[in-house]
Amino acid sequence: MELIDFHTHHPSLAGERVIQDGIDTRGRHPWHLTPSPSQRGDETHIENYGRKLLAIGESGLDKVCDTPYDLQLQVFRKEVALSENLRLPLFLHCVRAIDDVLRIRQELHAQQPCIWHGYRGNAQQIKQLLSIMGENGGGLFYFSFGIRYNEQALLNCPLDRMLLETDEDTLHPIANHYAQVAQLRGITLNSLINQMHTNFLTLFGNN
Ligand SMILES: [Zn+2]
Repeated sequence: MELIDFHTHHPSLAGERVIQDGIDTRGRHPWHLTPSPSQRGDETHIENYGRKLLAIGESGLDKVCDTPYDLQLQVFRKEVALSENLRLPLFLHCVRAIDDVLRIRQELHAQQPCIWHGYRGNAQQIKQLLSIMGENGGGLFYFSFGIRYNEQALLNCPLDRMLLETDEDTLHPIANHYAQVAQLRGITLNSLINQMHTNFLTLFGNN
């Protein structure tokens, strides 16, 4: 069975199935926002792109980047609304801003899955985010682990909420990543691959 790389900025390198940012998913990354919607022009673009997308994103909030935080909040709110309106999951970029992510999702009664990509948080945070389920909680989180991650978090993330990705890294093949994760989790490579296919269908099966 083919390997799935759940978030990349590049096409498939070695026959793996990739979810490529900008092709399979579209969003307004907090690093690249401009204040003027007419300059941005991508809002309508996403809407026209519509049903062919697997997800919205990556979108989110980043307290460490230079983009004014007010603008980030304003755009992220629209991205969450878009994900809800189109019934598409959201690929989340989040740096030190999870409280605002949760608040906005709660305010909008977000029900679509939220895929925290490049997850580097700890095991405790996974536990907390998995406990806030339900319509008004802004919950239903998935955690996509890149090449660098917190080992305890990876060990404690439920397999049915775990995804694997290489993001911008083209030097570390996804196959090596799968092998390392399978070994760490003490499961066979095949069962990890099967689980990733199940997760893919759960998230994107209807799109
Ligand atoms: Zn990325």
